Amino acid sequence: MTLFLNGPVHNGPFTLAGRPGKAAGIRLAEALNQLMGKQPAPHLWNTVTLANDLRHRTVALSRGQWERQELAAKYAPGPAPAAGLLTDTAPQVVALALEICQDLLANGTLAVAHVKVRLCRACDHMTGEVDRACRACTIDAGTRPAIRQLLVHDRPDGRPVLARADFHATRASMPAHLVNLAQSAPQRLLLSRTRACGISLGPLGLDASLVLDPRLGLHLAVLAAAAQRGEDPVMTLTENAAAHIVAYGAPVRRWGGMQLRYALHGRIPYDQHALRRLFEAHRVTEQLQRQFIQWYLPLCAWRERAGIAPARLPALIKFLRRVDLARPARPADEVLAELQRNVEAGDRRWVMDARVLAHALAYRMDVGSATEPPEGETG
Ligand SMILES: [Zn+2]
Repeated sequence: MTLFLNGPVHNGPFTLAGRPGKAAGIRLAEALNQLMGKQPAPHLWNTVTLANDLRHRTVALSRGQWERQELAAKYAPGPAPAAGLLTDTAPQVVALALEICQDLLANGTLAVAHVKVRLCRACDHMTGEVDRACRACTIDAGTRPAIRQLLVHDRPDGRPVLARADFHATRASMPAHLVNLAQSAPQRLLLSRTRACGISLGPLGLDASLVLDPRLGLHLAVLAAAAQRGEDPVMTLTENAAAHIVAYGAPVRRWGGMQLRYALHGRIPYDQHALRRLFEAHRVTEQLQRQFIQWYLPLCAWRERAGIAPARLPALIKFLRRVDLARPARPADEVLAELQRNVEAGDRRWVMDARVLAHALAYRMDVGSATEPPEGETG
């Protein structure tokens, strides 16, 4: 069975109330799990970031304490997620990461190699294989060449980075652009990074100051959350986010009988003022406003992968209001079964099908209140 999980969100300086667009993948995963009659999944967060290394430098708390405090603040003033949070450095992610890396080193998918890299002359940050400005310090001291023992993945010749089976989508909706883009990833992926926080590669016999590349780590967080439930993960993310990470997921997307797939979604134009005007103009009840923001727009973003144009909002709210008026008191079993077959198959057409959507909304109203994501302002 499929478990929908959000592609881990950067633990940056924002709140979900202030930046609800950041919750799009979380809300989409929640909506789809709920339609499938599943318990809520944890919300996944990415803490292995250079930006947070820099932000943490002036903080008195330990990195772990500070990340947890920052994450808790994301949800205020709403409730914390029902199934909790999972970061990409949580103990179960670390344990799974080391197990998978050892496995993939043994079968040759990953390797330890001596690689010519560039190190910042001021702070020793590894900028990669090419000479580029250091982002870890503000001193523009240039880089020096060095040879480092790193964990690497050499992409096998002739095998595409992405295949149809890597997407939770119908055949007709393969993201051809992304498939082509992914193919341009370097042939050798460096999986060791200099970061102040992350999954240490010391237990693999590598330099303990290096950590696993977070783009691989994000996939491992998703796999760890799914493994806990014994289900196959589908990771919700934007096409842009996918373009940055899919090559790094290739070595681990199929592991231990699990298969990780991607469900793409577009951006949501959450504009507080525009939405308020719209709700007033169309006399939308507060309850339906909440469903529109937290449930229907994420589903629309799943259907409209290129993003929802702001000009589409009036039509979408009018559509949902019409669907709400036709909503049955309880969802019909046969429509719900049809809906679940569609969700399982990655068929997104029902999102604009008034008949099916009315039953989906009825189901949401029936079971939804206990598992609703944090409310948040729109803006
Ligand atoms: Zn530096």
